[in-house]
Amino acid sequence: MRRMGHRFRALSRSGEETAERTMPDTVLLKRVIELVKPYKLRFAIAVFLALIGSVMGLIMPYLTKMAIDNYVVPFSKSQISSSVVMNGVKWLAVAYFVLALAGYGVQAGRRYLLNWIGHSIMRSLRNRMFSHLMSMSRSFYDENEVGTLMSKVTSDVATLNEVLATGLVNLATDVLTLGGILVIMLLISPWLTVVSLLTIPMLLGAALIFRSRARKAYRLTRKKIAGVMANLEESISGIRVSQSFGRQDENSRRFDRVNVENLRANVYAAQVYSMFFPTVQLIGAAGIFLVLYFGGVSYISGGLSLGVLVLFQSYVISFFSPIMDMTMFYNSLQSAFAAAERIFGLLDTPPHVRESDGAIDIGSARGKVEFRNVTFWYVPGYPVLKNFSLLVKPGETVAIVGPTGAGKSTVMNLLLRFYDVKGGAILLDDVDIRSIALPSLRRNMSIVLQDTFLFTGTLRDNIRLGRPDASEEEIRATARAVGADEFISQLPLGYDTMIRERGINLSQGQRQLVAFARALLVDPPILLLDEATSSVDPYTELLIQQALEEVMRNRTAIVIAHRLSTVRNADRIIVIDHGKIVEEGTHDDLLALGGMYKRLCDMQFRVVEAT
Ligand code: ADP
Repeated sequence: MRRMGHRFRALSRSGEETAERTMPDTVLLKRVIELVKPYKLRFAIAVFLALIGSVMGLIMPYLTKMAIDNYVVPFSKSQISSSVVMNGVKWLAVAYFVLALAGYGVQAGRRYLLNWIGHSIMRSLRNRMFSHLMSMSRSFYDENEVGTLMSKVTSDVATLNEVLATGLVNLATDVLTLGGILVIMLLISPWLTVVSLLTIPMLLGAALIFRSRARKAYRLTRKKIAGVMANLEESISGIRVSQSFGRQDENSRRFDRVNVENLRANVYAAQVYSMFFPTVQLIGAAGIFLVLYFGGVSYISGGLSLGVLVLFQSYVISFFSPIMDMTMFYNSLQSAFAAAERIFGLLDTPPHVRESDGAIDIGSARGKVEFRNVTFWYVPGYPVLKNFSLLVKPGETVAIVGPTGAGKSTVMNLLLRFYDVKGGAILLDDVDIRSIALPSLRRNMSIVLQDTFLFTGTLRDNIRLGRPDASEEEIRATARAVGADEFISQLPLGYDTMIRERGINLSQGQRQLVAFARALLVDPPILLLDEATSSVDPYTELLIQQALEEVMRNRTAIVIAHRLSTVRNADRIIVIDHGKIVEEGTHDDLLALGGMYKRLCDMQFRVVEAT
């Protein structure tokens, strides 16, 4: 019973065991076996222990039969003396206990080994998945939700492990136990074997009905818990907005609704399970009844010994547990295969942006960037850049402006090769970026995004993200250069301040300064910057402006500009609309033109400056 509950948890945690699987079971099984291979010696020992355990389980009831048939019954018929009985029964009891002790050791060893193997497999699988995820290109993350990916690395791996390590070995033990019981029963009394098996069709029927209901219930619980998770995720991520709009009560009501649905689904599942086990017990009792009745009749007529009757009764009881296990196992196996398919599917997905064979390391670039007739779309049929051409000279600062959705960030994404162009080419120092090794390309560029991402760790670690070997002096000098040192040294722990969840314990302006320090420390020939649109206090604004000038000095800079100061200082401004450059020139040129730039200026920069 305990084992069943365990299995059910395995079911509810894992994925859909739908029929839409594309990888054949044999392929999946082969790949799953591959995972166990590094641990084959331990696995073999575990299987061996399991087999010994199961043989012991067969022998133990037989000892009882021997005690009854060889000693107790002959004694009651005065065929042997009491001392012979005492001696015989004593040794049998000792043997029984020794077997039980050995069984204890065997079982503990088996469980330990299987758990050890299971956790080792989980660890290596998770590591593989993690490195794979880290290498995937941006388009992959456009197509896959973070939550789903996380559940693949966590619960799918756990589900697979459960079936893989423990389930398969249990299955082997179950089959052996069943086979062993059958053989012994048939050898001792074929007809009583048939009688005791009369309940098997009933048991199979019950198992079949249960299986389909359990699957339905399980799918429902999965769907509902997914609803709870989605709601929880949204509510927690949006907590600031909820609190500021006073939406907590409404959120709690919504959460309660999905929670109630989840409860109902689980109660239904519990119902299905709570019916199944008593049913099986009832059928088991019917089996014992048959053995007792027919065996009893036969005993009276002398066709059967008393020991055999007792032996059959205990074998019939041990018969049911493996059958129930196997029924449950089928369900877990289905979900394990589904989980395995999702895991291998993830591992098999190649990154869209791939390094070409013979990709070169260009060392430190001069910083010449060229977009040559670039065409690009995220979604086929909706081009974002059309024949886009732009030449940026080494050391030049180019500000990109344009309405939202014009394609400004796309220009950056393509340059960093988060995506590959669909037509045309992007060149760095006259070399097509597709023939440059990715690490070499990205070493030549630093990006500072609007939404600065800080990792958990110290401020120092966050600054030296792109150059972990930077010395303390370099870190401080860089922080000073961008004006970040001032606020950092005022913090009680200074550079050792721990950053919490994405930098929640720093102000937006402070985060920006840290990001500038981070970019400057790498000292790349090219700087890509997506200026923050949100306003900060005038003092921080000034700090940021100075920091910007510092980081852009002596390097090529491409900036998605939101500040008037930035566009004023830029060597050239390009105005993008619908993926095309519509205006180009200096701030004064473009203002004089009186076109889109002027309109954008009037609307956008005035607002930012005014705040
Ligand atoms: P901007 O930075 O100028 O606001 P973007 O370069 O972000 O504009 O976006 C240009 C267009 O591409 C928009 O229409 C946007 O909806 C679309 N787009 C941007 N990112 C993606 C994406 N990951 N998947 C699909 N469409 C996208």
